[in-house]
Amino acid sequence: MQRATKIVATIGPASSDIDTLTRMVQAGVDVMRLNFSHGKAQDHIDRARLVREVAASCGREVAIMADLQGPKIRVGKFEHGKIQLVRGAKFILDAACELGNQEQVGLDYKELPRDLKVADVLLLNDGLIVLVVDKVLGSQIHTTVKIGGELSNNKGINRQGGGLSAQALTAKDMEDIKTAMSFQADYIAVSFPKSATDMQMARQLANIAGEEYRHKPLMIAKIERAEAIPALQEILDASDGIMVARGDLAVEVGNAAVPALQKRMIRMARASNKLAITATQMMESMIVNAVPTRAEVSDVANAVLDGTDAVMTSAETASGKYPVETVETMAAICIEAEKSEDFRLDADFLNVTFNRIDQSIAYGALFTAYHLRVKAIAALTESGSTALWMSRHNIDIPIFAMTPIKATQRKASLYRNVRTLELAHSIDREAVLKEAQDLLLAKGVVQKGDMIVVTWGEPMGQVGGTNALKIMKIGDY
Ligand code: PGA
Ligand code: MN
Repeated sequence: MQRATKIVATIGPASSDIDTLTRMVQAGVDVMRLNFSHGKAQDHIDRARLVREVAASCGREVAIMADLQGPKIRVGKFEHGKIQLVRGAKFILDAACELGNQEQVGLDYKELPRDLKVADVLLLNDGLIVLVVDKVLGSQIHTTVKIGGELSNNKGINRQGGGLSAQALTAKDMEDIKTAMSFQADYIAVSFPKSATDMQMARQLANIAGEEYRHKPLMIAKIERAEAIPALQEILDASDGIMVARGDLAVEVGNAAVPALQKRMIRMARASNKLAITATQMMESMIVNAVPTRAEVSDVANAVLDGTDAVMTSAETASGKYPVETVETMAAICIEAEKSEDFRLDADFLNVTFNRIDQSIAYGALFTAYHLRVKAIAALTESGSTALWMSRHNIDIPIFAMTPIKATQRKASLYRNVRTLELAHSIDREAVLKEAQDLLLAKGVVQKGDMIVVTWGEPMGQVGGTNALKIMKIGDY
């Protein structure tokens, strides 16, 4: 059974050998995420090469997402690696402190004291530890522990409500963009953007670094700051997609606000012709257990029903005990949730207005396919944009993006309900239509006598300009 929802898997120490990666690809990973918050440039270069090798040996196009660290604010290191904080104790965050102890710890973001005022609430280690600011003295932030716990080296800090001034792109991110372009990462995920400008800047840097490889990645904005919520539409307009980055977002806006925000973000992304990835703690307990909790199963299924393009794993596959099982389990939950969807394309189209030719063809193809109950939709495409328009609406008919361009195949690997097939380059329409038919026959998607809907652009072989639609009977060529 085909799965419409895609899977993004973070790779790390638990999943950087050929055997595990191969099994993950076989289990259905569509995009491998390299987390630049951990490891050195060379680690990512090596992992990217492995992913490309494994994908080639599996005969699949697997995309690579480079996820930049961004201005994650962290505490420094401790003399003994960690401390225990107890409720009511005093604790100092000091930008000038070198090595931490029971009384104080250093900060990687030296400007933090300037951003804070008395009574601000700081959340450390994903909100597990809560500190309240008593006073700020020069480089020192004096706090009282409200919720204690273990605090170890380099744990993250957020301010409740957001509003920290750190720039979205750090000097490290700029270097990492170059590294990611050296292996032509298909997607760049930008951490903590606050505005369209942050995304435009990241895209510009990526395009410049990608120029020598003639490569332009798709840009994903991670929505994980309180300020990004009111700016969501402008951020969407400047990006190719968003990640519902529930880890940091929950800390800034409060856990309880996240589920409704997830639904709104996915809806807005789809309405803006952009992608959405739902991330963080989806299968959290599978870091240590071979089966997920009931709540995690529901979480993945609900993200599917919200209309997400992809569900994502983090530590489950990067450092957990069951990376392959996590992907298998997610895939099975997605397929089951998709079965329960009711497809109401006509109702879906009621509020849609459009004026572009390619968009008209994309919607015309969907509408025709839905009512004629064809077996498949084939979008012959150079850029993938027709397939993207089509994938913004739910339909129980598979969409095949057929393209001679491998980079387009990999980019489309995130699009919901879109599968990609490689088309030998041709500008002869009859030859291309026959090739499309033969590919679907060879894949077992269709049989002689079945109907499909095909879209393409004439003249052929040019980027953009889908302007033709054909209802085709298999066997006519
Ligand atoms: P991270 O981003 O895993 O890089 O922190 C995702 C999130 O915050 O949810
Ligand atoms: Mn984050």
